[in-house]
Amino acid sequence: MTSPLRHFGKVLVIDDDSSVRALCKQVLSREGWDVVLAENGQEGVDRVREAGSDLDCVVSDVNMPVLDGYGFLRAVRDLDGDLPVLLMTGEPGLDGAVEAIDHGAISYLAKPFHAERLAAAVAHAARSHGVARMRRRAMAFSEAHDLGAEDRSELERRFRRAIDARWLVFQPIVHAATGALHAYEALLRTSEASLQRPDVLIGVAERLGRVPELGRAVRHAAAAVASAAPPATRFFINLHPLELTDEELFTSANPLVPIASRVVLELTERARLETLTDTPRRIAMLRAMGFRFAIDDLGAGYAGLGSLAAIEPEVVKLDMALVRDIATNTTKRRIVAATANLCRELGSQVVAEGIETNEERDVLVGHVDLLQGYLFGKPQRELAAPLTPP
Ligand code: C2E
Ligand code: MG
Ligand code: MG
Repeated sequence: MTSPLRHFGKVLVIDDDSSVRALCKQVLSREGWDVVLAENGQEGVDRVREAGSDLDCVVSDVNMPVLDGYGFLRAVRDLDGDLPVLLMTGEPGLDGAVEAIDHGAISYLAKPFHAERLAAAVAHAARSHGVARMRRRAMAFSEAHDLGAEDRSELERRFRRAIDARWLVFQPIVHAATGALHAYEALLRTSEASLQRPDVLIGVAERLGRVPELGRAVRHAAAAVASAAPPATRFFINLHPLELTDEELFTSANPLVPIASRVVLELTERARLETLTDTPRRIAMLRAMGFRFAIDDLGAGYAGLGSLAAIEPEVVKLDMALVRDIATNTTKRRIVAATANLCRELGSQVVAEGIETNEERDVLVGHVDLLQGYLFGKPQRELAAPLTPP
C-alpha cells in the first residue's frame, strides 16, 4: 500500500546484506524518503557526520563486519543524542538488550519484516525526532551567547509569564496486577502560548540559568495540591538534575518536606547528572529527609543502566519507546522482560510509561509492577480516579 503522505526527509539504512539495503531503499523511497545507504557501522557513522542535522532516522542491522549495530549506536550518541535508531535484528540475548537500553535504540524490527512495518516505524521515529529537534531549536534560539540583550530580555519576559501562568496536571500510576491507584505524576503546564510544551519551557529555563526557579514553582504548586488531597496520596514529581544545586531543596523551606515520605522524585538526563560532582551526596541527603527516587525514561537514550548503579533508585520508569507496539514486537518484549527482571533484582519497582492499548497492558502486566498511560488516565488538573479499561 502506498502512503498518500509524502515525507521528504532523509533516512540512513545500514546493512551488510545488499538485498536488505535494496529492499529498504525501495520501501522507503516509495514513502517519499531520501534514502542514504551504508554497508557497516563505520560507514554509517561517516554518513551521519556528512548529513549532520539533515538526517531524520537511521535503520541499522545489528550483526555487521567492521563496526556492528551496537558499536554504531555508541558512536552516534556522541554525535547526535536524539537521532532515532531502529535496529533490525532477530531475537536479542540479554547482552543485546543491555546494549540497546544503554544507548537508546528507539525501536526494534524483527527480521524478516514487512514493508509496511518498516515504513510505519520510520515515520513514527522521525516524528519523535522532530519533537526533539524542536526542543533543540528552542534551546539554540535562546542560547545566551547568540542572544542580543533585547532577545534575552524578551525570553526572560516570556519565561516570567510562563512561570506566573503555570499549573500542574496529574496522571495516575496504577498497580499492574489490580489497576488500583498507586500515585499521581505531576506534569508542568503553562498558558504562555510560546512555551506551552514542558520540554521547551525547561530548555529555556536551562538557557536562562533559571532551572532552580522553575523547580521551586513546581514544588510549591505540587505541595498546594497535595495539602488538599486525601492524606495518603503519593506523588511522583520530576526533578531536573540542576535542581540538585538549589539549596532550598534541602531545607525546611522546601514545601514538599512535610510529605517527603509520599514523594518520589523522578530524575532524567544522565549526561547532566554525571557532570554534577556532588550528586550522590545530595541524593543521600534527600533520602535522609524521606524522599525516594525514580530513574525516568530508561530506554530513551538519556538514562542508561549506569544510572541504576549510581542512584540505586527505588523506582525505574521504562520509557514509552519501549512500550509502544510491545504486543506485536517480540524483540521489544524480550528487552523489556530482561530489563524489568534486572531492575527488580536490584530492588527497584518498575513502572511502564505511555500505555495506550489493552494489548500493551496485557503484555506488561506480567513484567512490571506499575503502569502509567492514557489507557488509565490522561494528565488532568484534578486528581481523577484512574480509568478501569476492560
Ligand atoms: P516524563 O516525565 O517522562 O512524562 C511523561 C510524558 O508522557 C508526559 O508528557 C505525559 O503527558 C506523556 N504521556 C503520559 N502517558 C502517555 C501516553 O499514554 N501516550 C503518550 N503519547 N504520552 C503519554 P509531558 O507532560 O509533555 O512532559 C514531557 C516531559 O517534560 C516529561 O517527561 C518530563 O521530562 C518533563 N516535565 C514535565 N513536567 C515537569 C516538571 O514539573 N519538572 C521537570 N523538571 N520536568 C518536567
Ligand atoms: Mg516523569
Ligand atoms: Mg518518562
